[in-house]
Amino acid sequence: MSIYMKKPFIICNWKMNPATPREAKKITQEIARITEAKKGTVIIAPPTLFIERVRALYPWVAGQDISAHAAGAYTGQISARMLRKENVSYVIVGHSERRKYQCETDEQIAQKIKQAHGEKITPIICVGETKKATIPQAWNKIKKQLDILIPSLVRGGNYIFAYEPVWAIGGNKEVDPKYATDIIYRIKLYVRTQTQEVSPVIYGGSVNCENIDSLLYYKNTIDGFLVGSASVRPKEIKNIIKKIYGSY
Ligand code: PEP
Repeated sequence: MSIYMKKPFIICNWKMNPATPREAKKITQEIARITEAKKGTVIIAPPTLFIERVRALYPWVAGQDISAHAAGAYTGQISARMLRKENVSYVIVGHSERRKYQCETDEQIAQKIKQAHGEKITPIICVGETKKATIPQAWNKIKKQLDILIPSLVRGGNYIFAYEPVWAIGGNKEVDPKYATDIIYRIKLYVRTQTQEVSPVIYGGSVNCENIDSLLYYKNTIDGFLVGSASVRPKEIKNIIKKIYGSY
């Protein structure tokens, strides 16, 4: 893993927010003011239309998705190469909202990972069970996802896994940090066994100011956080980042 990737990773997934470029600029400036590279990597994933603006103010930017194809007749999609040309170093792939609304499959997500690696973009690979389940049941589902995704990883390349229990996404769902940590531990072990490489694994699902302390209790296993809803509330994301910085 290259030196510009420093733990903890905090991914701010803005989803289809904020509504205006002016607000995007304001949130970016707020985040830029408090981040310090030596304390970790805070990455902003804005809507595609705002990438250039955000990138002009802040270095660590991610796409929210890329095409599974390098180029061609794919209306509405953007390629890994396009992101690279905008100096974007990260991309989220396999987010549950894309799996749900765009019916994305693990096979397509594996292609996206290959596209990202091909352009030296770090994929942030989302996995997770859709329904609340016991740990063995959830792990069974996640292992199936990993078995399709892992073969697309490039040896020695950068990648981050994000464990996101889909039922916990939404900003204010109840999260059991011990449950999440147990699954993250299994993902780490499995990826390591399959690839002989160590991958960071972060947690995403209703991370907010109220529950971040209880999640940080498991910081030895959790390598960072994917924050959705809270990441477009400037005061809240700043508090979350400060708490994370103070803990690792
Ligand atoms: C997400 O967008 O992946 C996410 C975790 O969202 P939220 O923090 O709102 O649950």
